Amino acid sequence: MCPTSTVSLMHRSPCSTSAPLRSSQKSAAQTSANSDSLSDKFSAALAKNKEWAAKCSQEHPELLPTLAVGQHPEILWIGCSDSRCPETTILGLLPGDVFTHRNIANVIHPADLSSGAVIEFAVRHLRVKHVVICGHTKCGGVAAALGNKGLGILDPWLIPLRQLREQHLADLQSLSQDEAVVKLAELNVKEGLKALTQKSVVLEAMQERGLQVHGLIYDVGSGVLRELDAAEPEDAIKARLTSFKTDA
Ligand SMILES: [Zn+2]
Repeated sequence: MCPTSTVSLMHRSPCSTSAPLRSSQKSAAQTSANSDSLSDKFSAALAKNKEWAAKCSQEHPELLPTLAVGQHPEILWIGCSDSRCPETTILGLLPGDVFTHRNIANVIHPADLSSGAVIEFAVRHLRVKHVVICGHTKCGGVAAALGNKGLGILDPWLIPLRQLREQHLADLQSLSQDEAVVKLAELNVKEGLKALTQKSVVLEAMQERGLQVHGLIYDVGSGVLRELDAAEPEDAIKARLTSFKTDA
């Protein structure tokens, strides 16, 4: 596996969404004052979209017309669905920069068609240069896997996390709840990298054009990303190539 390295980021100023509501939008918001909080938030978000599009066109006049022609993202981001982890925002990037797959607790199941299709398309057709798997602090999915409450359809989804809990039980039990969530989130990211690099399309791209894979943990309290050391010994890489690489 290629050694991990810091994701190369193009730090451009994200389009601002903080402009105040215009008076017509204020009155529209006021008329929905009796709606529940979700509807209020949604109405406000729709109004902000128009402001965002106008400001984005002003600050980056070429961006949206260019994106209308096609996309050429360099990064595939696989992260948690958690609302506190919006990848493009926390990376300081713009629409078109990050191809994305998010699910509960950023789990990669080998037979999951959704994540598998995203990875195949991003690696083979978009030819991204980096694949990122990002877990985060305070992850509800990770915390659920550290507990024993039945959660319906979430239970089979979280099985890989429970398997990691089983394998590292003594270590996890020696930690505080917050520390255990971070530890299991880290183990889950590393397991995800393993599942990712067991996909032939990823192995091929790593071998033939230097695709890099990265494991990150995002601290929702500070907004800071931390890269995990996911380097592997040469013989482990060779064994994976021998076992998982297939012909296209
Ligand atoms: Zn999460």
